[in-house]
Amino acid sequence: FRKKIPTADDLVNGILAGDKTALSRAITLVESTSAAHLEKANDVIKACLPHANKSVRIGITGVPGVGKSTFIEVFGTFLTNLGKKVAVLAVDPSSSISHGSILGDKTRMEELVRNENAFIRPSASGESLGGVARKTRESIILCEACGFDTILIETVGVGQSETAVHSMVDFFLLLNLAGAGDELQGIKRGIMEMADAIVINKADGDNIKRARLAKTEYNRALHLFPMKNSGWSPKVTTCSALANEGIEEVWQTISDYFSLTRANGYFDKKRNEQNQYWLLETINEQLKTNFYNHPEIQKLLEENKKAVQNSEISPFAAARHLLDLYQNNTKD
Ligand code: GDP
Repeated sequence: FRKKIPTADDLVNGILAGDKTALSRAITLVESTSAAHLEKANDVIKACLPHANKSVRIGITGVPGVGKSTFIEVFGTFLTNLGKKVAVLAVDPSSSISHGSILGDKTRMEELVRNENAFIRPSASGESLGGVARKTRESIILCEACGFDTILIETVGVGQSETAVHSMVDFFLLLNLAGAGDELQGIKRGIMEMADAIVINKADGDNIKRARLAKTEYNRALHLFPMKNSGWSPKVTTCSALANEGIEEVWQTISDYFSLTRANGYFDKKRNEQNQYWLLETINEQLKTNFYNHPEIQKLLEENKKAVQNSEISPFAAARHLLDLYQNNTKD
């Protein structure tokens, strides 16, 4: 007895009816490397697209151990209690190596996993950040078509991935700790500059005082950054994900941001810019994949690498040669 494999139409109907199993299966197609799966995924995405876009997308970043999973568990639950449908996705290009370093351990989100109005999906795997990010971007569309109105996207704030996440969300939240010092936390200036809010987690027990102090310091630091195009001044709040305190304040901050940016037109403008960005990103990614997967190129690339190593040809001449060859090969 074999279960019938759902067609693209089956998946679309399921997704539009709010079926999480259909959503899961469609995301698996998006993440697949098989050409047939990707073609089917494209059909599903195309049919879902008119039903997407009706959500708020919130990026959540922070170094490992800051409390992202714990925070998302209580924040997600808080949102579902408000009647929202919450999807949690992740961007973690390293997860293929570390077998899911974030969101992999679902036991940390025990309550949310069992919540009927929540959907949790670990990061797609893949060698390149661009590939992983594209898959997440497409999964957002599927989640929205499935009726999820609040999309949380988690990423580890230690590499390039937060820039990719920043380019697919409406609001970017940085989770931090008090007292550890910015250098220690590996928080780069660029990440702070991207943040629409900094939330100092673990403001509980002996840590409350330090958290309040940190809030003042971060507020001062944020004032040194230039005014944002959104017209929004980033806010700093404290919370304890563990004790479930300060969560409502975080949501209030995010809601204020959406009220402001919806009224001044920035919300739509930013989404439009992001779509333009992803159009070009996807082309770049596809061109690279096509080039490196071309059998002729694969063969000649190795030869040229050796020739460059032996100083028989300059790297630029070798690159030129391979690109020309590829161009001539793909002419119809
Ligand atoms: P992640 O790596 O950023 O996802 O962090 P986790 O959510 O796994 O949390 C790392 C550790 O910090 C766990 O032991 C949590 O129990 C703990 N933790 C998370 N939030 C809080 C908090 O608000 N207060 C305290 N005291 N501990 C917390």
